[in-house]
Amino acid sequence: MTTSYKDIVSQLRTAFPAPVSDRLHDAYFVFSFLRALDQVDALKSAAPMLGTPVTLDYAAARQQRMAEAPSTLEAVTSDLVHYLSGMFIWGHPRAQINVVPSPTIPSIIGGLLPSIYNPNLVSEESSRQVSLAEVEAIAMTAALVGYDPATSDGVFTFGGTGTTLYAAKIGLEKAVRDVRQRGIREPPVIVCSDCAHYACRTVANWLGLGEAQLVTVPTTEDNQIRLDAFAQALDAIVDDGRRIACIVATMGTTDAFGLDDLAGMVRVRDALVTSRRLDYVPHVHADAVIGWAWSVFTDYDFDGNPLGFRLRTVRALAGTARRIRHLGLADSIGVDFHKTGFTPYISSAVLLRDGGDLQRLARQQEDTPYIFQSGERHPGRYTLETSRSGSGPLAALANLRLFGTQGLQSLLGHVVAMAEELREQLEGHPSTTVLNGENFGPVTLFRVYPEGVDTFAVPEQERTDPASRETLLAHNAYNRRIFERIQADALQGHGVVISLTDCYRETTYGEPIVALKSYILSPFSDEHQVKAVLDSIAKARRALATA
Ligand SMILES: *Cc1c(COP(=O)(O)O)cnc(C)c1O
Repeated sequence: MTTSYKDIVSQLRTAFPAPVSDRLHDAYFVFSFLRALDQVDALKSAAPMLGTPVTLDYAAARQQRMAEAPSTLEAVTSDLVHYLSGMFIWGHPRAQINVVPSPTIPSIIGGLLPSIYNPNLVSEESSRQVSLAEVEAIAMTAALVGYDPATSDGVFTFGGTGTTLYAAKIGLEKAVRDVRQRGIREPPVIVCSDCAHYACRTVANWLGLGEAQLVTVPTTEDNQIRLDAFAQALDAIVDDGRRIACIVATMGTTDAFGLDDLAGMVRVRDALVTSRRLDYVPHVHADAVIGWAWSVFTDYDFDGNPLGFRLRTVRALAGTARRIRHLGLADSIGVDFHKTGFTPYISSAVLLRDGGDLQRLARQQEDTPYIFQSGERHPGRYTLETSRSGSGPLAALANLRLFGTQGLQSLLGHVVAMAEELREQLEGHPSTTVLNGENFGPVTLFRVYPEGVDTFAVPEQERTDPASRETLLAHNAYNRRIFERIQADALQGHGVVISLTDCYRETTYGEPIVALKSYILSPFSDEHQVKAVLDSIAKARRALATA
């Protein structure tokens, strides 16, 4: 005999939050969450990982089917907790893997509250004050990065790639009259550096421009766009009779924290508009998803150094601020709170210096008959998304409020100080070389060499001399083996988890330079973990020497 649907509904009701005040049921809700956290806690050990490394069995995963009978909240919850086994704990001081922060507790709560009450930012009708929260987070960020909050605007969207997509779409509207109606006939180009994120390529592809329309300009040794080559590229594009959908300045490259000369790029763009009498102004977007947070140092008194950073740290922070302070010159800016703003995924915002630019994306009123009946703010008229979660804005707002500029200065200052400490030690060691010494962020790219290699001369030879190709490749392989050793050790709970990049840059003769990478973002990091990186390297080198 099957159960009546009425019994099933009544059982399932207990799995929903009570719609009216019911303290007993609220307690059950909160307690269920606490139990889940307790179960997660049981997965912790000394290693910077929950549970144990797990081999991922996709074949078994594909065998999963929906059951017939309903399950219980308790069973489902402990089931879900298992999926965290094998996850790195990004906030662990011995995890120095990538630009993934550990979220703060307020930002986690900011992310959770909307998942209970489900505001939809498509319109203020369905999000009420959460719509205000988005406007507040955008205004605070705009002021921080040097926009006028009165005339700029922005929206939260689905990640850093989404921010670049918005920028390129708006730029395309500027470059090609009526493109939304008639489509693209002669596809315009997107211009960025060869260190830009592959999101630029994704956007060229998804906008229907085609990846062939991505023009990548060479970079200098410190991973910034070469301004002379940039100017030449723009000239060549105009000579060819082609249009520019978007120029992307990368303000903090993913691997190395390279910073383009945004002010210089805007100058070159403006000169081009005048000298070539363009009938549109090519849109300049700052992909600052990583670098935006350093805006808190724009007004920092580096001479007085009130927060008391070490001199080496002050120099590094000032070296970044000198580029980031010009963000306000960009027509749009991409910001990831889920990278250097310490929130959960997804919390990304695209800001437009001229808020009116968003109207270039607006749909016709008659195309959206079922929403936007009342009120004044309806982002759904111009966002790509229809449903938009309130989690991103509330998480961002939580941290903007929690940190204040001083808090963010201190946190960023701390992680940069740790990275500088690491560099000092790597530079002082004869077998290691820092590769991105002129990029002053929390990420350090370095190479390790076997005994007897002259690290004063060899790294430079490898980079520039085609005759060194064989040594370069051998040392690439050596660094991969070092990485595997360090990784295996870290997963046993010893040492530090770092990462490896297959191609930090290409040599002048076109081979990839493999590098080890330490990305320090944990507020809990200290000198001990920096020392642990050195110890892990030494141990791996010894193991390879005797292997
Ligand atoms: C991470 C990153 C992106 C992509 O952003 P997501 O938020 O991961 O989608 C784009 N540009 C740069 C420079 C990045 O580092």
